[in-house]
Amino acid sequence: MTEQSTRPEAPSVRVPERPALAVPPRPRLQLWGSRIALMPSLWAWPLVLSMLLVAGVMVWLHAKEVTDLESQRADMISDALSLEAQISNRLDDETSKLRVLAEDIQSHALTSDGFSRHALVLDGLRRFWVSVTWLGDDGQIMGHVPDDSLPARDALRNIGDEMGMAGHLSVALPGHDDHPGGMLVARYSAGALLRQKVPWWLAAKYDIRLVDESDEVIASTVDGPRRAAQAWYRVSMAPTMPNAWLELTSRERITPWWRTMPMALMGGFVLLLGAASFMLRRQMQSVSRAEEAWRTEAAWRSAMEDSLAVGIRARDLQGRLVYVNKTMADMVGYQPDELIGLMPPMPYWVPQELEQSMNRHLRNMAGKAPRDGYESHWQHRDGRLVEVMVFEAPLVDAKGRQIGWMASVLNITERKRMEERERKQLETMAHHARLTMLGEVASTLAHELNQPLTAIASYNAGLINALGAHEDMDPLVMKALKTMGEQATHAGRIVMRIREFLTRREPQREPCRIMDVIQSGVDLLKRDLSRHQVRLDIHGDGALPQVMADPVLIEQVVVNLVRNASDALSTQTGHRRILVTATQAGDFVRVSVTDNGRGLNGQGSERLFAPFFSTKVEGMGMGLAICRSIIELHYGALDACDAPEGGAVFSFSLPVHHDVPEGHGEGDQP
Ligand code: ADP
Repeated sequence: MTEQSTRPEAPSVRVPERPALAVPPRPRLQLWGSRIALMPSLWAWPLVLSMLLVAGVMVWLHAKEVTDLESQRADMISDALSLEAQISNRLDDETSKLRVLAEDIQSHALTSDGFSRHALVLDGLRRFWVSVTWLGDDGQIMGHVPDDSLPARDALRNIGDEMGMAGHLSVALPGHDDHPGGMLVARYSAGALLRQKVPWWLAAKYDIRLVDESDEVIASTVDGPRRAAQAWYRVSMAPTMPNAWLELTSRERITPWWRTMPMALMGGFVLLLGAASFMLRRQMQSVSRAEEAWRTEAAWRSAMEDSLAVGIRARDLQGRLVYVNKTMADMVGYQPDELIGLMPPMPYWVPQELEQSMNRHLRNMAGKAPRDGYESHWQHRDGRLVEVMVFEAPLVDAKGRQIGWMASVLNITERKRMEERERKQLETMAHHARLTMLGEVASTLAHELNQPLTAIASYNAGLINALGAHEDMDPLVMKALKTMGEQATHAGRIVMRIREFLTRREPQREPCRIMDVIQSGVDLLKRDLSRHQVRLDIHGDGALPQVMADPVLIEQVVVNLVRNASDALSTQTGHRRILVTATQAGDFVRVSVTDNGRGLNGQGSERLFAPFFSTKVEGMGMGLAICRSIIELHYGALDACDAPEGGAVFSFSLPVHHDVPEGHGEGDQP
């Protein structure tokens, strides 16, 4: 397990305060959703219920009004009948008294004076009689109380005229020998009759009138016309008062149900409730809108988090996973719901490294995670290892309190693999380069040794010839000289064989795109270049033809030239730039590597390309020599010169690939 710092301290992550961090957010969202679904109709419920209550009160008030009206009417009918009976009884009494008077007149042969002073007459006048008239059988007025000068017929007519205001009672006087017949007529005041007969409580309750058939008021307990829209009832006074009716009009007004106090209160209540419901609706709408916006934002956020290439993991202060995004869950092969709520040891920890993982977890919980992130590896559910880079940051709530740790997790497995592959490729390249260099060294040595060995062999042969002429020549010396010559020849053959072997390798030439070869060579040095802060540009002519070359060897040449240019720039102040260009020049493609370094310092290309020439402390001086060999093996040429704006240009050419008819070899090329 490795840890490596790669970026500055991650800022702390601030999140809105949540009631319980440990509760997974998604189920809460669903709960909210169902509550919100009910909300639109909730606000109307109080209004609907109170409208039902109001309707009930209205029905009750209406029913009560009907009942009150019926009860009032029943009372009125009963009171009217009772009063009619009392008045009729009274009039019957008065008629009886008039009849007694008539009998007295008959039996005591009363004179006119006696009639005027008769107690019954005087009593009647004290009650409500207006006048009493005694008519003879011929219509002559026998007596009249109170006395007036009107003739009897006129009096009778007046009585008839005043039927609307007054009533009359009449009793016939039967005639006999001594006393002629006639009639007693008592006029009475209907108003006085009412005043005397109607009890006060009844007068307080009703307007009581006596009316005739033409609705003319005969007598009344009140002044003025009948009040409109009041309940009233009439009962006939016949037979005691023919053509007269007793009319009762209720003084008590039953208020219509819709004008009662409860209705006014209910109206106010409904208005208030309507206003409250309206405000509640607005409030709920704004809450609903806010909820909707929140849910949209949450969906947005979770979609964003899920679409991130970076895994996100939140833990509370105890180390329990409270949130993971989909990327994080996918990274280790689980569903987010399977991970949320888990405490260490986590299922994605490598089983063989549980102790280390736990130690690292405890370190992170103690807030001692490296500020620049750390590398780790986890185990995917399917068993493969996942290399990750983790950046921990404190998770704080709206009040600034730390409530956990938030980590962003980068899956660097692929990057690691690439790096490893690149490293291995560079190693292989270096190995090849060493081998090539060794070959070149050996080849050069063989070339250099060949001549002295040949010279030794020649001198040896000459010496043997010269000494062979002398007869006293020591045969042992001759033998040694011959052996030395043989050994020198043998050494020369060995050296030749080695040289032949080393130079025998023919490049595996094939049509290839020079831009691809350049690119793959440059890719191998990308990290070196960026470490040395060197900017490298590649320019190629639009439609370059393919070249006949061994891409592996040419890539080695490109790497060598670019690395030399980068080395030359390492002491350069200011901007460092390498330009690699590929252009077509006739039947060749020319590749130039130009830098803005110190230049060649007057060194000619022969010197630079010579084996073992190097100005570097650890340089071997074989790079350019090998490059030249490779290029020449491809029938091209390697050149070096100073760049016009300073720096050096190393360029090589390679022959363009031509489609050749079958049967023609490539050896025909220059
Ligand atoms: P080495 O890199 O081991 O020194 P090389 O044969 O590759 O061997 O290079 C030989 C010498 O050529 C270098 O030591 C350097 O002095 C010179 N040289 C090569 N490339 C450049 C360049 N781009 N600018 C200046 N000098 C260079």
